[in-house]
Amino acid sequence: MTVSRPLNYGRHLVEDDDIQAVVSVLKGDLITQGPTVERFERAISDYVGAKHAIAVSSATAGLHIACIAAGLEPGKKGITSPLTFVASANAMRYCGAAVKLVDIDAETLNISFKELQLSLEDDPEISVVMPVHFAGLPADMQKIRKISGDRIVIEDASHALGARYECGSPVGCGKYSDMCVFSFHPVKPITTGEGGVVTTNDDDLAHKLRLFRTHGIERDPQYLDPDEAFEGDDRLPWYYEQQHLGFNYRLTDIQAALGLSQLAKLDRFIETRKNIARQYDEAFSALPFIKANQTSEAFRRRSGHHLYTVNIALEKIGLTRLEIVKKLYQFKIGTQIHYIPIYRQPYYKELSPFSVLDFPVTESYYQSCLSIPIFQDLQDQEVRHVIESLKKIISV
Ligand SMILES: *Cc1c(COP(=O)(O)O)cnc(C)c1O
Repeated sequence: MTVSRPLNYGRHLVEDDDIQAVVSVLKGDLITQGPTVERFERAISDYVGAKHAIAVSSATAGLHIACIAAGLEPGKKGITSPLTFVASANAMRYCGAAVKLVDIDAETLNISFKELQLSLEDDPEISVVMPVHFAGLPADMQKIRKISGDRIVIEDASHALGARYECGSPVGCGKYSDMCVFSFHPVKPITTGEGGVVTTNDDDLAHKLRLFRTHGIERDPQYLDPDEAFEGDDRLPWYYEQQHLGFNYRLTDIQAALGLSQLAKLDRFIETRKNIARQYDEAFSALPFIKANQTSEAFRRRSGHHLYTVNIALEKIGLTRLEIVKKLYQFKIGTQIHYIPIYRQPYYKELSPFSVLDFPVTESYYQSCLSIPIFQDLQDQEVRHVIESLKKIISV
C-alpha cells in the first residue's frame, strides 16, 4: 500500500469557501482594524461561551499580554508544564518573571495536579498558573482552579479549541480560569495563517488585553489627560492616549475572514480527528510495542485530538527512534516529537538549575514518544498506510 502525498504529523485544511471569504475582505475597504475582526471575536466568544474574545497576531502574543494583564513582572513567578511548546514559558520570561516547571501526569500528559499542589503550597511567589491542554485533552481545570486560590490562571489552550472540560463545558468558557489562549497556526484546530485569541469573562482583564494589543493606547474616554482630549465638551476626534507600553499584536481582517470560515467547520474537523484517533487506538491496542496515549473513552469523548502521540518500546524492538523516523519517512510519513521538554532547552538550563531527575514522568514519555499524522483531511486509506507501515517497521 502506498499514498500519493507525503503525510505530515499535522496540517491545515483550507477549502474553496475559505478562500472566497478571504478574497471578499481583500476586495473591501478595510483589510485590518475593520469589522471582520470584531465579527470573528464575537463568533469565538459565542462558540466557547465567554464574555470577551480578543483576537491577536499569535497565541504567543496572546500569552504575552495575558501574562502582563496577570501582573507578572520581575520578582514574580509563573508555573507551567515542561511538556509544552517554548512559547508558554517564554511569555512569562517576556515579563521578566521566573518560570517554575513541575512534572506531568502519565495518563493525561498534562501538568500533574499533585505536583502542582505541592509547588503552590511551598512557593508563595507563584502568582500565575498556566496549565497546557496537551494534544487537545483539557487539564483537570476544576481542581486546578480550586488549588490556585487567588492566583491568576491562564490556560494555554493552543491545542484545544473545540475540546471540553470534564463537566462538558467548552474550553475557554472562563469557568475555571481567568484567561484562555488559543492558537490559529496552520497545525492547530483551525487556522488564520498566524493568529490567536484570548477569551475571558473579566471586563477589567479584557480591557487590559485590548490596550496591550494596540500599543497601550486608550481610545475610550477614560483619559489620564482630559485637558488634552477635550475642547469644552468636544472630544478632539484625532486624540488618542498612550497609557502603557503595549505592542502591535493585532490580527488582520484578512485573517479574521479565514478564521470565521474555519470556525464554522471546527466541529466537523474534530469529528474527523476523533475518528482517526479511534482507528489508531484500535490498531495499536493489538500491538505490544506501541503504547498510544490519552486513549480512555472519557478522554476521547472530550479531547480536540490535536496530536496523536505514541510511545514505542525502543529497547524491545532494537531500533532507535531516529531509525524509526527515517524508515517512516521512506513511507512518506512525517512525524514529530512533542515536545523537547522546556527544562532541556539551553536557554532555560542556563536560567535555572533544572535536573531531569525532577521530571521522571516527562522524561520517560519524552525518550520514546512520537507524534504521527492526524489532521482534518487525512483519509482512511492514509490512516491504514500509517498503521501498516508502523507494523512493518516495528515487527520483531
Ligand atoms: C502552537 C503553540 C503555541 C504558540 O502558538 P502561536 O500561535 O504559534 O504563537 C503556544 N503554546 C502551545 C502549547 C502551542 O502548541
